[in-house]
Amino acid sequence: SSGAGQQPHDHLLHRLHDLQSRFLHIPPLEIAPLATELDLPVSQVESVIDFYSFFHRSPRGRFDILFSNCTSCGGLTLMQQLCGLLGVQPGVTRADGMVSIDQTSCVGMCDQGAAVLVNGRTLVRLTAAQLPHLAQLVNTATPLDEWPADWFAVQDNIRHAGLLLNDTLSAGDGLRAAVQAGADQLLAEIRQASLRGRGGAGFPTAMKWQFCRDATAPEHYVVCNADEGEPGTFKDRVLLHSYAQQVFEGMALCAYVIKAQHGFLYLRGEYRYLVPSLEATLDAMRTANLLGENILNQPGFNFDISIVLGAGAYICGEESALLESLEQKRGVPRVRPPFPVTHGYLGQPTVVDNVETLVAAVHIAVHGGEWFRAHGTAQSAGSKVFSVSGDCTAPGIYEYPFGISVQDLLEACGGQDAQAVQIGGPSGTLIGRAEFGRKLAFEDLATGGSIMIYSAQRDLLAVVRNFTHFFAHESCGFCTPCRVGTPLLRKYLDKIASGHGTVYDREEMARLGKLVKRRSHCGLGQTAANPLLDLLAKFPQVYAERLLHQDYEPFFNLDAALTTTRELTHRDDAEAHLS
Ligand code: SF4
Repeated sequence: SSGAGQQPHDHLLHRLHDLQSRFLHIPPLEIAPLATELDLPVSQVESVIDFYSFFHRSPRGRFDILFSNCTSCGGLTLMQQLCGLLGVQPGVTRADGMVSIDQTSCVGMCDQGAAVLVNGRTLVRLTAAQLPHLAQLVNTATPLDEWPADWFAVQDNIRHAGLLLNDTLSAGDGLRAAVQAGADQLLAEIRQASLRGRGGAGFPTAMKWQFCRDATAPEHYVVCNADEGEPGTFKDRVLLHSYAQQVFEGMALCAYVIKAQHGFLYLRGEYRYLVPSLEATLDAMRTANLLGENILNQPGFNFDISIVLGAGAYICGEESALLESLEQKRGVPRVRPPFPVTHGYLGQPTVVDNVETLVAAVHIAVHGGEWFRAHGTAQSAGSKVFSVSGDCTAPGIYEYPFGISVQDLLEACGGQDAQAVQIGGPSGTLIGRAEFGRKLAFEDLATGGSIMIYSAQRDLLAVVRNFTHFFAHESCGFCTPCRVGTPLLRKYLDKIASGHGTVYDREEMARLGKLVKRRSHCGLGQTAANPLLDLLAKFPQVYAERLLHQDYEPFFNLDAALTTTRELTHRDDAEAHLS
């Protein structure tokens, strides 16, 4: 063993993915043998099955079709239409076992929706015109490989390339520069570059690597966080598709600095279709001596990478939850400190870096810290890759130096008419036109890269409601403020949206939102109320228009509830109504 802990083919998540594909659910009789084989408690296997939304206790259809419910790549109207065509209710497998249809959180195809997963494979740019054909393919049990190939053709949609995406590097350039300079010098360049984490938090990368390197332990690990699940975020998808060599090379650079022998790419389950090309890249790197033993003939520089596939849990993008998931457990965020740099995977010092951060590290290794530092702003060096989606003429990937204004980005993508932009996904910041002059940078609007644009035709309350439903669905349930608070926030918004809300509800919702923010254990709960509070602060009229009364009003509509009784008693006169 390389000391890497669980190898991918033995990883619980992979074994459960296999069972799910083979049996369309996880058969109860398979659980105990699997637990024995993997030397895990049965209770752990059971809890993992229940935690991840891609594993099921009862059989799904031979074609299991999941529609994204994201405001950018979602298609819930199409879902209803397809359900009608196939004679199936959402979430209920058809009696003949052929098909099941349901919704799922954003699948990272926001620039080419509507998007669905069919048996885990990503189908993009779905339109209503395709649905009869799709229904026919299902009803005739046509294997997915015989479906039109262009339905599955995910595009990169790179609209503007900058420092990183204007790629002129060859395989191994970063590693060759690094081994020539030595690990100390590489770390010095990363520090000089002022590189900060691209996932959104912006922690200085050199400091993270230094902390991990300084921690004494038998093993050190590098983990690439490729679990981008924030609705509206899809830039890592493009980096993993067309720049995978650099992602892996960035991991190897980190390994060189911190003396790790093994790394993991934790890939979100929705990007399963990328696994074959990623594995091919890894193989090519091993052949070229860019991974494996004595990399580039440096004695003792041994490093290899495994891919671990997630299973539909947004919370696993939180780094400590990701580590739990890597350790074959439920993705519940850990209590910190201690931090992963000293106590990470299997309790060993671990660097967890975002995909884009690692790509930037390769460019810094080749061109130097000064070169990188010369771009961007004083506090946000370099460039940022943005995922732009929603109401604009050219959704896709845009790379610009940090400091670009929202207005400039909107003009570049044809989204000038926006009434609002959600920066950084649902957990980020909602801004209106008055704030379009603000800068995209850590010191102003920090973002992991998601830019969701909403035109005047959009109902912002529906958008915020969608986000709030998302958080309530993705809450891991570990801490009470978030487990209880996010569904309550969802209920308040549902009530207001349905026209039953009052000023009292709005105030209570805001009060609760602030409480959930303050008291939650991890970033999910701490940001879950951002959209509804931002909407309240910046677009108060959106709520005001829906509030019919000042005082408390029950959500329950008593008159409507009497409908069945009226039918049964054949009475529908005025006296049979409450008002
Ligand atoms: Fe889990 Fe939510 Fe608590 Fe985070 S805040 S630990 S997601 S319950």
